[in-house]
Amino acid sequence: MSLEEIKKQIEKLRKEIKRHDYLYYVLNQPEISDYEYDQLMKKLQDLEKKYPQLITPDSPTQRVSGEVAKEFKSVKHTTPMLSLENTYSSEEIIDWEERIRKILGEQKCEFVVEPKIDGVSCTILYKNGLLVLGATRGDGETGEDITLNIKTIHSIPLSLRESSKYQIPSTFEVRGEVYIDKKDFEKLNKKLQDNNEITFANPRNAAAGSIRQKDPKVTAERPLKFFAHSTGLIEDKNLKIENHLKFLEICKEFGIRTIENFKLCKNIEEVIDYCKKWQEERDKIEYDIDGMVIKVNSFRQREILGTTMKSPRWAIAYKFPAQQATTKIKNIRVQVGRTGIITPVADLEPVKCGGVTISHATLHNFDEIKRLGVKIGDTVIVERAGEVIPKIVKVIESKRTGNEKNFKVPEKCPECGGEIVKEKEEEVAYRCINPSCPAQLIRGLIHFAKREAMDIEGLGEAVVQQLVEKKLVQDFADIYSLKKEDLLQLELFKDKKAQNLLD
Ligand SMILES: [Zn+2]
Repeated sequence: MSLEEIKKQIEKLRKEIKRHDYLYYVLNQPEISDYEYDQLMKKLQDLEKKYPQLITPDSPTQRVSGEVAKEFKSVKHTTPMLSLENTYSSEEIIDWEERIRKILGEQKCEFVVEPKIDGVSCTILYKNGLLVLGATRGDGETGEDITLNIKTIHSIPLSLRESSKYQIPSTFEVRGEVYIDKKDFEKLNKKLQDNNEITFANPRNAAAGSIRQKDPKVTAERPLKFFAHSTGLIEDKNLKIENHLKFLEICKEFGIRTIENFKLCKNIEEVIDYCKKWQEERDKIEYDIDGMVIKVNSFRQREILGTTMKSPRWAIAYKFPAQQATTKIKNIRVQVGRTGIITPVADLEPVKCGGVTISHATLHNFDEIKRLGVKIGDTVIVERAGEVIPKIVKVIESKRTGNEKNFKVPEKCPECGGEIVKEKEEEVAYRCINPSCPAQLIRGLIHFAKREAMDIEGLGEAVVQQLVEKKLVQDFADIYSLKKEDLLQLELFKDKKAQNLLD
């Protein structure tokens, strides 16, 4: 075969793979099995290996770079990535509409309402159809260049899809959210846990941590997804975008996944109804949402409305109220933190709250117990607000039976039996002052290993616990004098992993 023929064959393969990516990631209508897809990829990889001179930057094989970033360069955004003003009630949404009315007068105004996904805001930029930049929001003016990591996300095309309807613009920039589905998040945490690695508190943290990995290979293994929801800089004389719905349609034509479950509303009553609908059904969506975004559909009207220093006037966020449930306190126990601080935790009778079952709540400190007047056995209202650990908001005193017990601050540390001292300067804090308290050492080491600067790979919670239990580590300096034989004594610690940690 001539080089010309090989080139044609490679191009055909790439086109086919891109078509299947589009069907799978954008339209959610795959036509082939994963196996068949992998076969196509393998064929392409083999050919490119033989003819590396034919590799192009937008080839599907080029998603994962071998480069490792030392630091992320900062990039100034083409137009500011503004944040939205928040509202918390229908009244506030109506107030917002009235403010708009004052500017727009009698003009008819339509709104697009979409779920507010709890992810990481990013911008992606295409020049002449080729993905050239991916960046975080940063402070809104300047973000970080994370192009290599953005490229690993399959719902972001490396080059824009050829459309029969629209010509590819010279500059096409879209903004959206990088996120992780709830199910994928659970699988990811399970995998991290099995590998004795640090797990994430919630899908948002997992997405944020994954998109800022220095090594794109790590990012590529994370189940990141992307939705476009806003325009960035778009330069083209031929491309007329009159409104938001048209923008979403164009994105889709170009192969970029757009926000799902949006609705065009003719008036503010419809807007409020749609917000309330998702407030009730938020758990049915496969990713975390914390509210809805309401936008004026017409781009001409958006221009008239303009922006304030911080936010556009033509869009607003409606935040869902916190989720509450009623349950009973089975017990109150204490935890020892890495600095020896003792914090009370309530064990609850498991209760469904906002789609998840919760079985414990934080009480922050001992003054909080006093302030709430909470006793063991009390019926209480617990609240989940976004990503934080549930907290107790209120005791329902009418439910008391007389069998409730007061909680007493323990005199001895539950972990080491050491003395507990009340801090003078801060009256609410109690502390275990035993310097070799194993609970403090374990939490301290985990904290130490988690700090990005340290970057000690493989030093997860389970490993730390075993190191301390087996007395292999008695202070921080011991970590660096660990020997392979020490690590091999640990359960679940494979030879390769031991070497990793020592390198
Ligand atoms: Zn202790």
